[in-house]
Amino acid sequence: MQIKQHPLPHFNERKKPVSALVLHCSAFHEAEAYQSYDDAGVSTHYFIDEDGCLTQMVAEEKRAWHAGVASWREIIEDFNSASVGIELCNMSLGETPYTQAQINTLIPLCQEIIKKYHILPQNVVAHSDIAPMRKMDPGMTFPWQELAQNGIGLWYDVKNADKNKENDVGTLLKQIGYKADDEEETIAAAYAFRRRFLPEEVQIVGNVRELIEHPYPQGKESLLQGEKFLQTLKAVAYSFEQA
Ligand SMILES: [Zn+2]
Repeated sequence: MQIKQHPLPHFNERKKPVSALVLHCSAFHEAEAYQSYDDAGVSTHYFIDEDGCLTQMVAEEKRAWHAGVASWREIIEDFNSASVGIELCNMSLGETPYTQAQINTLIPLCQEIIKKYHILPQNVVAHSDIAPMRKMDPGMTFPWQELAQNGIGLWYDVKNADKNKENDVGTLLKQIGYKADDEEETIAAAYAFRRRFLPEEVQIVGNVRELIEHPYPQGKESLLQGEKFLQTLKAVAYSFEQA
């Protein structure tokens, strides 16, 4: 795999071993993305441009600054120490599809990282999964199912919904890994869940600024309802608990 080096100075030493892979997107091509990360004092290990070109910005063994305040399963603090971050260029923040060239670069890169650090399939996550109240990337067109078919992360079979006896939305979201300790967190997690596992039911926002400023619809309790949502949630939670 050909990797371009464009090092950012925003990193430090890891305080724990790598146990998660976080997928992101930015509405920039590589050069502008580099500049915007540098200006903001943040970073990522890898960046994949629309043409599939792969750039490394921080060495994998170092702690890049991509996740921010985040929580998933057993990782409840210092997500940056515990994860590798990959950013992909998507000018609509994932509301229009990624290019095949990007996916062709992404799949072997993820496979290599997962193998190297023995990352559990449950811990291959969207930025929006681990920080649903703040983030919406990599967006609803991100090809999670295709990735799962290539051994990256998990998908689900809706037929398994009945095997999960739990019916409480908050508990099911927690079985998957989301932080859902109060109603607002649960609504944000349900929205992140829908965008990852039921994107065909989610309304396209179509405005990058709006997506950044309002990563989830605040107070929208209807996001916790619906038979298809509940069945999908139960099936996903089953697949996360069985893996
Ligand atoms: Zn992100």
